[in-house]
Amino acid sequence: MIGPQQVNELGKELILRKLDYVLNALCPNDLMLSISAEFTELANQVVEKCEKKGTSVYRWTMVFADRPASLSSHVPLAKDSKGNDGYGSLGVWKRIGKGDEKFLFHCPASLGQDEQGIQWAIDSAINIGAHGIFLDRIRFPSPANGLEFLGACACPLCREAYKNSTDKDWVDLSSLLINCAKLGSNGAAVYMEQAKPMLVFRSHVIELLVAKYAHAAHENRLRVGLDLFAPSIAFLVGQDYHLLSEHADFIKPMFYCKTYAPAGLPLEFGLLTKGLEQAGVEKRMAYSFVSELFSIETNILDDIMEKKGISSSFARREIQKCMQEIDRDMQAMPYVYAGIELVDHSSYDTMIDDATRDSYLESLIDYDIAVCWNILYVPERHIEAISARWKDQNG
Ligand SMILES: [Zn+2]
Repeated sequence: MIGPQQVNELGKELILRKLDYVLNALCPNDLMLSISAEFTELANQVVEKCEKKGTSVYRWTMVFADRPASLSSHVPLAKDSKGNDGYGSLGVWKRIGKGDEKFLFHCPASLGQDEQGIQWAIDSAINIGAHGIFLDRIRFPSPANGLEFLGACACPLCREAYKNSTDKDWVDLSSLLINCAKLGSNGAAVYMEQAKPMLVFRSHVIELLVAKYAHAAHENRLRVGLDLFAPSIAFLVGQDYHLLSEHADFIKPMFYCKTYAPAGLPLEFGLLTKGLEQAGVEKRMAYSFVSELFSIETNILDDIMEKKGISSSFARREIQKCMQEIDRDMQAMPYVYAGIELVDHSSYDTMIDDATRDSYLESLIDYDIAVCWNILYVPERHIEAISARWKDQNG
C-alpha cells in the first residue's frame, strides 16, 4: 500500500528497496498493489521489479466504500432504517472515519451496474501494467460502522429491489439482531431464520457486482483476487464464499485474530457485543447470543474485551470453514491465501509477536500465506520466518 503517507515517511528509494527485499526473500506468486494515482511512475517501477521475479501484480480496487473521489461524489451513501447515512452509534468503532480509509459504504442500488467503477479498475490496472485486479470493500457495513448499519442499505431503491426479488416485506436486520439477542443463545437460530431472505438477497447484491468486475477483467485478460471477511462473520456483511469464489482466481480471507480495526475478528465480535449492550440487551444475554451466532466460547469474548485478541490457532478453524464453503460443487477452485496481519506500525492496532506469528504459521501449515496488510510495515523477522517456512516445505 503506497499513498502520500508512505512516500513522505519512507521515500521512494526505501519503498523500492523494501520491495526488493520481500521479492528476494519470499518469491511471491502475487502482489496486491494499492497506490495513489499520482504515483504512476513508481507503480510502473514496482510492476517492473515484480515481473523480473515472476510475481503477478494485482491493482487494489475499492468497490463499495473508499472509492476514488471522481467515482463516488455523485453516488449516495447507504442508509440505515431511519434514513440516516454516515456511521451509527451502537458499538461504533471509536476511530472510524479518522484515518485515510473512511469505511463509508455506498448504496448498491444507486451504484447500479457501476460501469464507471469497472472501467476505472480495468484502465488503471492496464495503465500500470498490472496482471489483475484485487477487489476490496466488496461488502456491506460491519459492526465497526455501528449496529444501526447492519441492515443497510435501507433506502427506498434498495427496499424496492428487495421486494421485487423476494416478494417479501423489508426486515430491518439491525432491530432484528437486537431483539433476538435479548433471547440469549436461543436468539441466534431465530435471527438466522428470520434474517435469511435478507441475508441471501444481500449476498446476491454483492455477488452481482463482483461478477461484473470479474467478467470485465477476464475479458481484458486480467485476473481477479478478492478480499474477504473471515468465514464465520462473512454472512453479516453480505459475503457468500461459495457464490463469490466462482468469479475469483484467488481469494484472500482475512483471518485477523489480533487486529482491533475493521475486519479484525476481535474488533468486530467485540463491537457487536458492546453495541447490543448499548442497545439495552443484558450483558449475559448479549454474550451468549454472540457466542452462539459465531460458534465461539464466551471466554473468547472476555479475552476480546480485555484486548487480548483471539488465539491465532482460531485461524485453522476459519480456513477449514472457508474450504468447505467454496468446495460445495466447484470444478475449478480459486487459489486461497490465508491472510494474516503481520504489520507493525504505530497507526495500527495489532500485536504480532514471534510466538503469535509462529502459532499462525503452524495453524495454517498447509496453506500459502498472504502477508497483510502492508509489506512496507512488516518487520523483517516476520518475512524471514515465512521465507524459512517456505524453503522448508519446498526444499
Ligand atoms: Zn440503497
